[in-house]
Amino acid sequence: MGEAADAASGGDSHHEITLEGIAGSPGHAVGRALVLDRRGGPVRRHIASHQVEDELERFDRAVAAAAGRLKAAAERTRGSRAESSILEAYVLMVEDETLRDDVERRVRIDRLCAEWALSTTVEEMARQLSHSGDSYLAERSHDVQFVGQHILESLSGREESTVLSRSGAPGVIVAHDLSPAETATLSRESVLAIVTEVGTRTSHTAILARALEIPAVVGVAGLLNRIGDGDQILVDGLRGLVTIAPSPEARADAAARAERYRDALAVRRSLRDRPIRTRCGTPIELKGNIELPGEAPIALEQGARGIGLYRTEFLYVNRSVPPSEDEQYETYRRVLEAVSPLPVTLRTFDIGGDKFVSSMQVPSDMNPALGLRAVRLALARRDLFLAQLRAMVRASAHGSLRVMIPMIASMGELSEVKLLLAQAVAEVDAAGYARAAELPLGIMVEVPAAAILADRFATVAEFLSIGTNDLVQYALAVDRSSPELAYLASFFDPAILRLIAGVITAGERNQRPVIVCGAMASDTLAAVLLIGMGIRELSLEASSIPDVRAAIESVTVEHAGRAAAAAMEAVTASEVKAVLEEYFPGLPGAPESH
Ligand code: PEP
Ligand code: MG
Repeated sequence: MGEAADAASGGDSHHEITLEGIAGSPGHAVGRALVLDRRGGPVRRHIASHQVEDELERFDRAVAAAAGRLKAAAERTRGSRAESSILEAYVLMVEDETLRDDVERRVRIDRLCAEWALSTTVEEMARQLSHSGDSYLAERSHDVQFVGQHILESLSGREESTVLSRSGAPGVIVAHDLSPAETATLSRESVLAIVTEVGTRTSHTAILARALEIPAVVGVAGLLNRIGDGDQILVDGLRGLVTIAPSPEARADAAARAERYRDALAVRRSLRDRPIRTRCGTPIELKGNIELPGEAPIALEQGARGIGLYRTEFLYVNRSVPPSEDEQYETYRRVLEAVSPLPVTLRTFDIGGDKFVSSMQVPSDMNPALGLRAVRLALARRDLFLAQLRAMVRASAHGSLRVMIPMIASMGELSEVKLLLAQAVAEVDAAGYARAAELPLGIMVEVPAAAILADRFATVAEFLSIGTNDLVQYALAVDRSSPELAYLASFFDPAILRLIAGVITAGERNQRPVIVCGAMASDTLAAVLLIGMGIRELSLEASSIPDVRAAIESVTVEHAGRAAAAAMEAVTASEVKAVLEEYFPGLPGAPESH
């Protein structure tokens, strides 16, 4: 991101400069810049042997103080799950034994002062993480640095001197980056906005700023070279813009936008926590599909009532070794805690096919989509599958968790998975970990065989979730990644509707919930068709939730049922779509495609 505009305004002393970044947290603010400067580096001195014990004691006191501050911040943010769980993870990192042992070794053997020992240890840990070649671990290297910074501040007694004291006078915090703990110590009363040089929409600063409702622009390259302490700046968190020395027109424009934003927000708020019902009052559940843990709070923000599909295979991407059980447990736990008490459905890894993953040697089949993929790979690599199942069982202690198996094609596979899940539960119990008493096991219905035999699967699986992306691929024999064949790959195809109708009937007869979690659920016309067919729960991309919600609220079940009956009579996908358009003219958010 760079400079968007550099315009002298109207011949006065103003020189308005606009810098472009990433919209981190919506809202507008105008105020004086409070530039946080952390230059100056830690103290570096060697100590004498008789000072070793005192130095270690000083370190332990600093750790306790830093942990205390983080715990207090976590306590203050109890209302916001995203924040408090990140802060609690930081407390664990501050009190980490490995960190303590490394520092002790450097103090005792190398005779470094506590500051020096700590900064060397932290640098080393951060370097290892950022060189791991894995984007998730690289992100953790920033966390290690933030944690180090906190202990360092306690060691030097500077903890009150950075953000906290600066936030006395309301202003716009300008920094290279902020730790979640720092962000949490800020409040809307003392901080008008946040602008950082690094970060993305899903980085901690942005997530937490949104939770605190402080406008933020992140990822503004060269920020600290352009903005000085005390500069007057205008922050537009909606468009990701920062204007230095804003003109009166720019301020007026921002004020008007801010007001429009606040009005729209008030409307969305009133909607967000209101249960979703059709116009005739039938409750409908909308959950979110996510790929990364950081997306969970964002899905909730869009109105998701839980996570209906967490594609865990993304944990295995971009790395040379698969994630360990502990690493997976920590990640799932974070998602569970962010979403709790609402439920989270974790899908076991769906690797192979179009989802190539570097950390696993997947043999190259002639037809990868028909090859060793998803549950087939899991059953072929039981060590990896069991590690994942154990991590899930352990994570179940932290919220409402359901396990979902991708690509199930036969009852034999489901029985094998059930046995392995029972084994994982027994191993977790034997190791003395906590877990939930109930662990519902469901399947994805995405292979036609599973749809055809849905009545059998419904006697064993506790829920059935239809993955329309693969169901379309396999039922219509259309490669889902082929742009040339996209015209054939319609979820409105009558063959797909019949398969879905059969699954719904099987679910009803066996009292098993049937959910739709493929792209079909994100399409407003398709969503109301599904409601008409009897579906009461959808899981979809977070960004589509507001439109799908509006569409659902605009229809009655009776009218949707009539539309569905008419659609089932149509003979081609385009006819199905035409019928639906006739029944639902001007449906909110109706797309042009499919
Ligand atoms: C699907 O196949 O519809 C689905 C939801 O899973 P994925 O897109 O991850 O294959
Ligand atoms: Mg699929």
